[in-house]
Amino acid sequence: MHAHNAGQAAKVRCGLCSVTRFYKPAELREVYGNVTIREIGQKMRCMKCDKGEYMDADLLVPLGAEAISIKYRRLVRIEFLRHIVWRDEP
Ligand SMILES: [Zn+2]
Repeated sequence: MHAHNAGQAAKVRCGLCSVTRFYKPAELREVYGNVTIREIGQKMRCMKCDKGEYMDADLLVPLGAEAISIKYRRLVRIEFLRHIVWRDEP
């Protein structure tokens, strides 16, 4: 995905649950890095069935009524978990 995709929406669908969600491409890039929309589809998991193999992602430009009615799933924050590893001295 490129920086000039303003106005685009990322449509992500789980084929198993028939759930479709819309994301801001810039926010997906923040999470997944500069990869293609297809790769993002392969990396995402469905929050309903927790499976990844039925996910499909695509970019579209919402127009007219669709552009007004789309509710995006927005990025709130990225949390980094602290992993603590201990080791006994030999
Ligand atoms: Zn699902």
